[in-house]
Amino acid sequence: MNDFADDNVINPPRPNGPPQSMIEPIVDTQIKTWDEIKTTTCYMCACRCGIRVYLKDGTVKYIDGNRAHPVNKGVICGKGAAGIMQHYSPARLSKPLLRVGERGSGEFREIEWEEALRTATMWLSEVRNIDPKKLAFFTGRDQSQGLTGWWAAQFGTPNYAAHGGFCSVNMAAAGLYTFGGSFWEFGEPDWKHTKYFLLFGVAEDHASNPLKAGMGKLKARGAKIVSLNPIRTGYSAIADEWIGIRPGTDGLFVGALIHELLSAQKIDGEYLLRYTNSPWLVIESEGAAGDGLFARNAQGSALVWDAHSGTPMPALSPDAEPKLMGRFTLPDGRRVVTSFQLIAERFLAAEHSPDAVAARCGVPAATIKRIAAELARTAFEEQIELDIPWTDYAGRFHAKTVGRPVSMHAMRGISAHANGFQTCRAIHLLQIILGTIDVPGGFRYKAPFPKPSPPGVKPAGKPGQVKPNTPLPGPPLGFVTSPEDLLICEEGKPQRIDKAYSWEAPLAAHGLMHMVITNAAKRDPYGIDVLFMYMANMSWNSAMNVPDTLKYLIAKDEKTGEYMIPKIIYSDAYASEMVHYADLILPDTTYLERWDCISLLDRPISEADGPADSIRQPVVEPERDVRPFQSVLLDLGARLGLPGMTRLDGLPRYPGGYADYIVNHERAPGIGPLAGFRGPNGKAQGRGTPNPEQLQRYIDNGCHWFYELPDHMKYYRHVNWAYLDWATFFGFLARPEPVIHQLYSEPLQKFRLAARGHGKIVPPAEHRKRIETHFDPIPFWYPPFEGEMVSEEDFPLHAVTQRPMAMYHSWGSQNAWLRQILGRNWLYMAREQAVRLGIGEGDWVNVISHHGAIKGQAKLMDGQNPETVWTWNAIGKRTNSWGLAADAPESKKGFLLNHLISELLPEREGGYRYSNSDPITGQAAWYDLRVRVERAEDQSAVSAPQFGKLKKQRRA
Ligand code: SF4
Repeated sequence: MNDFADDNVINPPRPNGPPQSMIEPIVDTQIKTWDEIKTTTCYMCACRCGIRVYLKDGTVKYIDGNRAHPVNKGVICGKGAAGIMQHYSPARLSKPLLRVGERGSGEFREIEWEEALRTATMWLSEVRNIDPKKLAFFTGRDQSQGLTGWWAAQFGTPNYAAHGGFCSVNMAAAGLYTFGGSFWEFGEPDWKHTKYFLLFGVAEDHASNPLKAGMGKLKARGAKIVSLNPIRTGYSAIADEWIGIRPGTDGLFVGALIHELLSAQKIDGEYLLRYTNSPWLVIESEGAAGDGLFARNAQGSALVWDAHSGTPMPALSPDAEPKLMGRFTLPDGRRVVTSFQLIAERFLAAEHSPDAVAARCGVPAATIKRIAAELARTAFEEQIELDIPWTDYAGRFHAKTVGRPVSMHAMRGISAHANGFQTCRAIHLLQIILGTIDVPGGFRYKAPFPKPSPPGVKPAGKPGQVKPNTPLPGPPLGFVTSPEDLLICEEGKPQRIDKAYSWEAPLAAHGLMHMVITNAAKRDPYGIDVLFMYMANMSWNSAMNVPDTLKYLIAKDEKTGEYMIPKIIYSDAYASEMVHYADLILPDTTYLERWDCISLLDRPISEADGPADSIRQPVVEPERDVRPFQSVLLDLGARLGLPGMTRLDGLPRYPGGYADYIVNHERAPGIGPLAGFRGPNGKAQGRGTPNPEQLQRYIDNGCHWFYELPDHMKYYRHVNWAYLDWATFFGFLARPEPVIHQLYSEPLQKFRLAARGHGKIVPPAEHRKRIETHFDPIPFWYPPFEGEMVSEEDFPLHAVTQRPMAMYHSWGSQNAWLRQILGRNWLYMAREQAVRLGIGEGDWVNVISHHGAIKGQAKLMDGQNPETVWTWNAIGKRTNSWGLAADAPESKKGFLLNHLISELLPEREGGYRYSNSDPITGQAAWYDLRVRVERAEDQSAVSAPQFGKLKKQRRA
């Protein structure tokens, strides 16, 4: 106890002491401000750290990190600690709402839940009775896609996806089609052993505590961190080397690294021969239907050329001694070549040399050469050997686990470019030729990965599979491997509202959410009856082309006077901009008021050392008339009579809501949303009957479960016999078969052959060139589309956003603490560029694209690519949204680049406009934006455009 505690005075005056301002405040840190602590899982960003919530008299007083949690081990970031302000946000919705005025007017009446649920059931059942695909059900950055995707399949609509299509699906797909894993939360660098870490851009609001902690470990060990990013903020600022690459050219840079490594013969030949399809034989038969496919035996096994016998042998035969390079003739006379020969021929070409790409990347050739040499030296001269014996799929015993300590990580900006899929494939090629996937020091999978490459599940929703009152025969999202898997009709037209899995975006593993409103309003390819969305701010920062999106949302059919999108149901916890454009609003709880599961069936929180999952428990009761969306969804499912949600006697299958579902739902016998504490006594892991005590066991364990793999299963899991067996038992794999890295992608070649007219399903003529060009089975670089379609003279600069660490999507701008860190945004420009354009610090500037213009305030900075301007993502807000005051800086000074970005590319010959997306996966190409910047004549301190004020929704 301090001297002044009894006086209850902090910093009392001291007559002879130093001035008051120099005296440290005396704070009693021992006062107990809580009467209870509950554990749960943070939802202030996507990392899903374990937190402890301190409560007093049922109110939240404080949040800190859970030290026993596998994800964050006690670390809490600013966002996580500010969760208290999210929970008590003035933007919280408090009651179901039904629109009474014109859509977009913000005129609602409060209704009771029974009326809300009856209305939703009526709207939805009308659709399901006639044509279930007339429901488009899309969710934003929720964490319950295991449930929502299953619900959509039970409803019978193929028109389902979460936000992945405008986030990073091209990268996820590139990984899954290449090595059965992916960057982002599906794997991580081996933080303990890596010595060289190459970071290709990252969304710093998403990849938060785990990446910070990991990079901290690297710093402590003296490992080198190299960051490629046009902007030097966040992780780039603490990297040992920052490379301010020009947006959209990462693939060129990586290709040059591969060129250098191949030229110096610095590749891991053994890894390539044993664990990749590098030695598989590709048919060379120009113009024939089989050209570019793998040569296979009668049993369908791909073949390699056996050096010992000089004959073809099955690729996975343990007796084969495959040749890595070369051209051969099969006994039937066909000419074949190894995959790696083709890869080497491509990347050894002069066009991939550092000198050839340097100017376009904005990176000196000498830097590229040096980075390649550093990678090679670290990988091959600093090899790691762990005393861990293991056995590979072919029965080969390895006395040690050998690794090459180079690791990589990527997310944005690669993902936000139209060339992101092939660029990410090139990064994986670089990792794999160095032999660094799932090895000590390299990039490590997180369970349930590795999956087969690509995963075997196919999307449902072909013609004939969508029927009234009938579930889909499979999930709406999956992985196509040939044109036969596409969701198109006989004329080749898309079957989904977003045109996913059509010739426009054949490998759209997560849909194209950014196209739903545009397509629905234009009835292209058809109209829908109900748009049902959750946590997706599609009328603002999640929309490309905000002005037109707002028009589409209120557009009416001239003949009938009905809205082109007749009914919009929306669920959110907060009064976002989207709320104003819905007809029926189902208010959600905050993350501290509900049950949730972070499931291995969805996007888990696994560690590289083993699988993990976790729950959220309601740590406080809502004092508003709100319900957790997941329970509402199950309730609606039961009211609609969806088979999975209704018992044979017609009663709800999960009357206890989402908590009931989490415990009792089984996706396959013994496999449910949570893997821990299963079986009658709670001792089963992974597979086991439902355990009624499961949630309590999670709570007793700090709301998480983690299973650490034994050492011999921690590496080389794609080819590790013991792991593959174990993963099959656990339900991660259907069969204990090796996941051979697909450097040469046969599924892509099948699409290319279709574009050349081979097979029963071929693209319409207008799509053929695009498919043939981009579905190259070997990674390649092509310029981002927008830059190619507009004049460089008119739009000389790139414009991108960065994700601030202190925010997450649009959510942070309602948070009283986080707003103090970033209450508005600026347009950042390279100092020399600004000077050249006559723009000074603090000037208001117009930013103009081929699609629109905005006005924002400039700040000048040194650490950025000179051809690029940028701003913080999603800070600008529409007046009166998110519970903000009408003169909030987010509305008056903040702005969005979204207004400049078109969801459609400029017209091509024939007038057709493709979506502004990666042509392979449909991923939104946010960062392909090209602009020019001019000092604004109007220097008034207000950003533009200013859309009309929204009507304020009632405060909680
Ligand atoms: S990193 Fe994300 S999940 Fe972890 S504490 Fe911060 S906001 Fe929460």
